[in-house]
Amino acid sequence: MSASVSLESTEFDRFGLNVALARGIREAGFETPRPIQIETIPAGLDGRDVLGLAQTGTGKTAAFALPLLDRLLETSRKGCRALVLAPTRELATQISAEIRLLSKYTRLKMLTVYGGVSMRSQINVLRNRPEIIVGCPGRVLDLLQQGVLRLGQVETLVLDEADHMFDMGFLPDIRKILAALPDRRQNLLFSATMPREIRKLANEVLTNPHVVELQDTAPAETIDHALYPVGEKQKRDLLEHVLKLDECNSAIVFTRTKHRARRLADDLKKSGHRAVSLQGNMSQAQRDRAMRGFRGRSFDVLVATDVAARGIDVKDVYHVINLDVTYTPEAFSHRIGRTGRSEKSGVAYTFVTHCDKGWVRSTERMIGEEIPRRNVEGFDFDVRDRPEPRSGGRGNGPRGNYRRNSSPQSNGRRSSEGRGRSGESRGRPSEGRGRPRRSR
Ligand code: AMP
Repeated sequence: MSASVSLESTEFDRFGLNVALARGIREAGFETPRPIQIETIPAGLDGRDVLGLAQTGTGKTAAFALPLLDRLLETSRKGCRALVLAPTRELATQISAEIRLLSKYTRLKMLTVYGGVSMRSQINVLRNRPEIIVGCPGRVLDLLQQGVLRLGQVETLVLDEADHMFDMGFLPDIRKILAALPDRRQNLLFSATMPREIRKLANEVLTNPHVVELQDTAPAETIDHALYPVGEKQKRDLLEHVLKLDECNSAIVFTRTKHRARRLADDLKKSGHRAVSLQGNMSQAQRDRAMRGFRGRSFDVLVATDVAARGIDVKDVYHVINLDVTYTPEAFSHRIGRTGRSEKSGVAYTFVTHCDKGWVRSTERMIGEEIPRRNVEGFDFDVRDRPEPRSGGRGNGPRGNYRRNSSPQSNGRRSSEGRGRSGESRGRPSEGRGRPRRSR
């Protein structure tokens, strides 16, 4: 047995992690640590605070989970010793699934808590004194205020997708939770972007953090992304065209509103697609069903809003189609980060109308590069609905103010010269940011 274990060693061995975790890592199929893991795990194991600037899909869950688990295994104390806060139910569930996988051969217990489901079963599980709580701030605070969750023994706090938690109006809840934690603890904060509020939070929470900044807000190299100028009324037809042209069998389509997501999924179903929506008006059971169906390939198209889809990890999503642009430029990276995950490739279409010029400018400034403009092959753009009729020109799609870029080199891959991003542009706070919303 021990011989087979050594044969199956992985590059994770360099971290000297607990053997039970090493076994979990092998079983998860992780062979080579991702850059964020190489940077974060040693500092995490040393008990240092970490500020991770990383977009989703980089492997950041294991980057914080492995040192956290390893440290928990050093002693056998029960009760909440690690608290992981995440903005959405889907992300919380996903983090839990990864922690469960990695800690499979340990005796550590975990509870996942979020709103929209009964509190009773969560309270029952709390009686078993799980060492790890993963949850959304709203429900964690509710349990805390009811006196059923005690956080006085927390050794490690993880704030995942901190920028998104801010977007969703969770900062006041987070501050109340922080007040219930012991002063002496390890803090691991991850965020794809650093708006001013998150920088302030990081300054308050982190002590001499090890800063890991491997990724920027620009989309991953593996994603071929481009803008497709189109009239508002053509979007629906263009979507059908793209779905057919690319034979999409695992695509996420983003819309701006819940209502639009639901209606579009219904329309797509009527036109023969196996489509399902994922939006905030659905019950938890409906959302779980939609995600299960999409993961299991019973659905080809998931029509989602940002809030519902943030952080979800579905293997092999090849197409992301932004029917509407995001509310904020920052959300763009998150959306198209649904594809090209874990070093796989993917294609992202963003449909833009002439009303989106400001968004395009801010987004390009944020990612530090120009996003290529493209046409969709064979799509007949209707002259009546051109974004900028005065610029004219048939057969090649709408022109508007968008310069097209169809040279062979401009297939959407980033050229390293084109980057030019600075830390400054990352931190530009709240550019076009919507009003924070409270959502549980
Ligand atoms: P995350 O950014 O944590 O959502 O991770 C994205 C995906 O990468 C998840 O499906 C992880 O299970 C997977 N992953 C993370 N680290 C590794 C690794 N070192 N090797 C292979 N897959 C990984």
